[in-house]
Amino acid sequence: MPTYEYHCEKCQVIFEIVQSMAEHERGKVVCPHCQSKQVVQQFSRFFAKTSKKS
Ligand SMILES: [Zn+2]
Repeated sequence: MPTYEYHCEKCQVIFEIVQSMAEHERGKVVCPHCQSKQVVQQFSRFFAKTSKKS
């Protein structure tokens, strides 16, 4: 299963989780540290700077 990297906006931690594609699409990701749902998937590790979203 693929590994996804997320950043928690609440406690500013980057964590990795292993999910199936189906789980990933459901988007049920919470921070393992604070259980916050304010998590943002990180792509920077896989894709060098793409276009900036502002
Ligand atoms: Zn957190």
